[in-house]
Amino acid sequence: MNDLLDEAIERRENVPVAPVVHRPGRKGPYDFLIVGAGFAGSVLAERLAAGSNKRVLLCDRRPHIGGNAYDHRDAAGVLVHKYGPHIFHTNSDDIVTYLSRFTAWRPYEHRVLAQVGDKRVPMPINRTTLNALYGLDLRTDADTEAFLRSRAEPIETIRTSRDVVINQVGSELYRTFFEGYSRKQWGIDPSELDKAVTARVPTRFNDDDRYFLDTFQAMPLHGYTAMFENMVDHDNIELALGVDYKDLAADQMAPQIIYTGPIDEYFGHRFGKLPYRSLRFQHETLNQRRFQPVAVVNYPDPSVPYTRITEYKHLTGQVHEQTSITYEFPQADGDPYYPIPRPENAALYKQYEALAKEQGNVTFVGRLGTYRYYNMDQVVGQALATYRRMSIATEAREQA
Ligand code: FAD
Repeated sequence: MNDLLDEAIERRENVPVAPVVHRPGRKGPYDFLIVGAGFAGSVLAERLAAGSNKRVLLCDRRPHIGGNAYDHRDAAGVLVHKYGPHIFHTNSDDIVTYLSRFTAWRPYEHRVLAQVGDKRVPMPINRTTLNALYGLDLRTDADTEAFLRSRAEPIETIRTSRDVVINQVGSELYRTFFEGYSRKQWGIDPSELDKAVTARVPTRFNDDDRYFLDTFQAMPLHGYTAMFENMVDHDNIELALGVDYKDLAADQMAPQIIYTGPIDEYFGHRFGKLPYRSLRFQHETLNQRRFQPVAVVNYPDPSVPYTRITEYKHLTGQVHEQTSITYEFPQADGDPYYPIPRPENAALYKQYEALAKEQGNVTFVGRLGTYRYYNMDQVVGQALATYRRMSIATEAREQA
């Protein structure tokens, strides 16, 4: 078995040396092979190893742990997020308690501005946004609500993302903030997107300019990667980074597989590819301490090719002479980032899900494994629930 693992590792091509590569240390045979070392895979590896004394081989085709939440110091020494800004927020005490075993936290409340012409205004739309945009002097929640009501264009049956916004705030604000941004982000018009997409961006009648309203909003004190390192630092866990599942003789590795990669890829795209939206990240370091007043500035203007710029020092609180920023350019091809929420895609996923249920020894978890746009806390919740179900099933088998 270890020969098979060695062969897979040798097949890795041009994998840069990652800060957290643990050389496989001959800990097999394994009880579980876990594919993907993001939140889903790492939480399950930790629980199975520490909670159930199972031996786990955790592989990822990327040369690092953390999945899309991976962060690292760039050439200038600024802590940046390789796959775009990740802000932790949740309403679940259980999830905070669980993750707090592996990290301390830096309180952080996320704020986003949208660049509209020469103005930068808060997103989601709140009283300040409307006052700045229209030169108004709305002073109370009631004033703001009445103003938005006067703009709203009620739509009887709300089907799409466009319907949600126009129904709530009318065509003008829709065009200013949502139409161009959504077209760039998704590559299709909001009138073709499921209503669930925009349900994520509420409007406010007050002047609360926090992007999230969750009870817990914070960043891991030393970053996500440090948190993941603590999570998978267990004698029962062996890491194989830069190793693709396809290159492992999985059946010979372990009797049970947990798969957090793309479900359609697992089944050889048998029913067709599940559509994803991808991103190109352009990272830059600037010789100045500050670039913009908040961590993220959105660019809804359709003539600007990127959707947003992130400046990481706001998120991390790092003090540094320079600052690092990332431009995000949405694109069709590349790593799968956002499942595209359309009814036909949900139907295609259902076909794969039915196939997945027939697999006796493979469990599909995570954003890619279950084709859902989940935030980090939701993926942690899903992984902990999966672990509980597995433990209950094992107990039942042992008692029978
Ligand atoms: P992933 O992190 O994608 O991990 C899956 C891993 O599986 C990957 O590392 C991949 O390399 C590996 N893999 C896939 N196939 C194979 C294979 N065949 N062999 C080996 N390895 C494989 N959430 C928030 O809560 N707050 C935010 O602010 C936020 N911002 C985001 C910004 C962007 C740009 C994106 C794309 C997502 C954001 N998210 C955010 C969502 C967050 O990234 C996910 O919830 C979380 O990372 C999902 O974890 P996961 O383990 O399911 O998937």
